Amino acid sequence: MEPPTRHRPPRHAADRALATGTLAALALALAALAACVTNPATGRSQLVFYSVDQELRIGHREDPRIRAEYGVYDDEALLEWFETLSMKIARASDRPDYDYRFTVLDTPVVNAFALPGGPVYATRGLLAYAHDEAEVAGVVGHEVGHVNARHGVEQMSRQQILGGVVGVASLLSPKARRASDLLGTAAGLLLLQYSRNHEREADTLGVRYEFAAGWDPLGVARFLGVLDRISARGGQTLPVWLSTHPDPGQRSARARELARPLIARARAEGRDLAVGTETLRARLDGLVYGDDPRQGFVLDGAFRHPALRFRFDLPPGWKVSNTPQRVVVYDEPRQTTALLELRVAASDQEVGLDPERHARRLAAANPRIVALEGTSETVHGLPAWIGQATLGDGTGAAVPLLVAFIAHRENVYRFTGRWAASADRQRSLLEATIRSFHPETDPEVLRVRPVVLRLEDVAPGTAIADLCGRRNLAVDCQELRLLNRLGNAPTVAQTRWIKLPVRQSPVYPP
Ligand SMILES: [Zn+2]
Repeated sequence: MEPPTRHRPPRHAADRALATGTLAALALALAALAACVTNPATGRSQLVFYSVDQELRIGHREDPRIRAEYGVYDDEALLEWFETLSMKIARASDRPDYDYRFTVLDTPVVNAFALPGGPVYATRGLLAYAHDEAEVAGVVGHEVGHVNARHGVEQMSRQQILGGVVGVASLLSPKARRASDLLGTAAGLLLLQYSRNHEREADTLGVRYEFAAGWDPLGVARFLGVLDRISARGGQTLPVWLSTHPDPGQRSARARELARPLIARARAEGRDLAVGTETLRARLDGLVYGDDPRQGFVLDGAFRHPALRFRFDLPPGWKVSNTPQRVVVYDEPRQTTALLELRVAASDQEVGLDPERHARRLAAANPRIVALEGTSETVHGLPAWIGQATLGDGTGAAVPLLVAFIAHRENVYRFTGRWAASADRQRSLLEATIRSFHPETDPEVLRVRPVVLRLEDVAPGTAIADLCGRRNLAVDCQELRLLNRLGNAPTVAQTRWIKLPVRQSPVYPP
């Protein structure tokens, strides 16, 4: 979570869907005029209700929201390298004129995706698994392929034909109703799934663009192979990629076949293809690996936020979902009966850092709040306002909501707690959690630093077991092998570099 002064908070996924819905209505009105258009990249005829102008506008509007939701990775050199590399691919594509923007997102989730009109994202979590520049170029080529082939707007048009408004259908699907999805980490557009044919097209274009830009076209196949191994291992780093990019193993084999004639052609022409193993090494050294504890982590039964210098206790067994926009704690991952959200309330001259004024403004600004009662007090020395709101749901039923504002340093924090009608005793747990909010003063926590990748040369014959036994290593042997493609070999086969995720501070990972 970060203070909102750094970016404008994005609207909720539902709002987004609504906004897209308006556009969708407009597009439907124009549908009579829309015809099948032959896409220059794929040569395939598409039914698309969106003009390229509209497509560019969607990308333009959603890009700042995605950046705010996930956060941009804070490393100028890395961002510049990624943009330069990606721009080469975009220029070599069939549609160099799209409004491309390339961003590395600050999340450990292994993912890459594109929005209609040009914005393309890769996560730092994905970069950590790359082995050379050609693999990164392959991922970018695939995403630029989605943009060129206009898969985003094609899928949006398809959903309209099926009678759904983009986003809404997905939001109401049983899968998206899980607590973790309701927490709002995925933008409406990201819930849009491409078809298998789209993925195949994007792979084909990715291989072609990567080759046209001068890289080894096997990059696509190699990285798909890595994804296949990551997904075989399972774990929580892959949910997004798994749902949007099925069958990485089969697709890897296909991408390899597509690359073969291109490599033969380059050989016949005496042309060198770039792989960029050493360039990538320089870029990966120091890359943050896993969750960044400076943005919040759980230690000793409490959620600690070193950057914002606060902490609060968690009821035993409760889970935490922490994103740049909000922290949510809830009682169980699947059957959530109580949920507490914490975010930074927008302060301005009118309300300043006064919790009571924040409460009054909340009631005034939200017509669904039919009653709001509470009192000003102090919580661990911090000015606070704690109370209960009643929401009218339009049908006469009233829904209670726990609401609190607490001022700490330069921010006012807003808590909102909800609980199921059948779980009334959860209310006291929510209130106790709010009342446990206090300044973080533990110097070890305030000084916490993330796990980072250290790049090291290793000699042939080095025992993998020795590498796994390193004192500061933050991962197990299986993950180290996966990160470095060591397979099951007992020793390193040849001189090479290796990525070691190392811990830099004693309290993290806990
Ligand atoms: Zn894809």
